[in-house]
Amino acid sequence: MLFNRTIIACILRALYNEKLMNGLPNNETRPEFLIDTMVRGLVRWLRFLGYKAWDAGTLNDAKTIIQKNPKIILLTCSKSHLEQIQPTRYMLLLEDHLENQLHKLNYEFGIFRDIHLLSICSFCNIEVKSVDKSEIEKNIPERVAENYEIFRQCPECKRVYWQGGHIIRLKDKLRRMNIPISDFDSPNSKP
Ligand SMILES: [Zn+2]
Repeated sequence: MLFNRTIIACILRALYNEKLMNGLPNNETRPEFLIDTMVRGLVRWLRFLGYKAWDAGTLNDAKTIIQKNPKIILLTCSKSHLEQIQPTRYMLLLEDHLENQLHKLNYEFGIFRDIHLLSICSFCNIEVKSVDKSEIEKNIPERVAENYEIFRQCPECKRVYWQGGHIIRLKDKLRRMNIPISDFDSPNSKP
């Protein structure tokens, strides 16, 4: 029994590491979200989990975004906004707390099944790319360059991402919300 569990853990670890290192989300099937102003806090967290999430802005902005991307899912807590925007796809989020909102999104769209941390730029909402340390070394603190090997960079704003202390704190917060962030998702620091 223990042996079986060990094998399964090894397989999961191999799969997970592959995803962490190489895998970017499969955008063909991956839900994308349009976040209404009153639940704007979700933008940051969905991007951190690896989902594209647009800030809806004004009602007209929201309509324009939906016209360009009819598959996008509007998240709102306002029935009035739903009536005015008339989205193709939407979810009415009446939950107050971030934890409950994320769990409801998982119930409907399975967002916890395919988490890709650090795959979306938290500022530009586009996929970040793997980058060789030598290319960005001059743009990161020396301490970071000494301790981390794996980096990603936003092709737009050029921000560099790595799994440092800030990311660990965000992951801990997600775990406290009972979101299944893998133990294998450890910082890629040197031993
Ligand atoms: Zn960016």
